Amino acid sequence: MLELGIADGQLETAAKLAGLKIDAAQALLAKLAPITEDFKPPIATAEARKLPSNQRQHFSRRQSSTVFVPKLDRFGKLLVHSLAHSGVGQIITNDSSLVSQLDCGRLGYSIDEIGETKISVLRAEIANAPSYLKLDNRMKWLDYSAVDIAVVETSGAFQPSDYQRWLSLGRNHLGVCFSDSHVLVTAIVRENLPCLGCRELNKWEFDESRKILGAQIAGIAGLKDSSSILFATAIAGQKIVNWIDSQDSDGDIEYWSDGNVRPKTEQINPQCFCQQGPSEI
Ligand SMILES: [Zn+2]
Repeated sequence: MLELGIADGQLETAAKLAGLKIDAAQALLAKLAPITEDFKPPIATAEARKLPSNQRQHFSRRQSSTVFVPKLDRFGKLLVHSLAHSGVGQIITNDSSLVSQLDCGRLGYSIDEIGETKISVLRAEIANAPSYLKLDNRMKWLDYSAVDIAVVETSGAFQPSDYQRWLSLGRNHLGVCFSDSHVLVTAIVRENLPCLGCRELNKWEFDESRKILGAQIAGIAGLKDSSSILFATAIAGQKIVNWIDSQDSDGDIEYWSDGNVRPKTEQINPQCFCQQGPSEI
């Protein structure tokens, strides 16, 4: 439990699970304080001092930023590396799963790591990066509002359950959707711009069958190849860092299985629930 970390406000539950009274748990934590970590975004001041002034400013901005990466699958693992080594101070995930045989292989985990938690493997891998990887599998609304950019990763089609909380809270998010023909990395989605739901509805206008198929293929497994994972990681990492540094965000990008890269511009869909007033939801 301590290895995975205990979320703020979860000490009471953790103590119960460990069969301890809250006083005993607090005393134990106090004793272990020298070897446990408190997750505050670190500022790698020594590293920042060595940088030229223009880079130092970007680096400090990244150090005080928080990015949410939901899963530590092959894509999530590489993205954590990219963000951590770019200087993003805090990365939150809610993936507490163990490495299984399915997670091994190209771009994945090593066979020797089967049975370990993915987060502990990744923490060791990014130990030299100026970044904390924090587990938060019971996030509260307050925790969500501390996230600067959330990654929404899926396969097949975006579903409201993937992004609703970020949209409702007005938090910036970026969608990544793997399909059988291409991977899509969206622009940073923010208020008054097309949401991930708009993108799905816009597809319905060209393809009626998508209305039924969308829900069936959402989250479907087996659509990620190494090339699309690497492309999506590089583009998602660049878009996130660019947003943190300069609040710049261009459009969506698709990478097709024939090697083509296609930029996309999306429009707000008037039928989307992001366009309905509160009384209409
Ligand atoms: Zn929308």
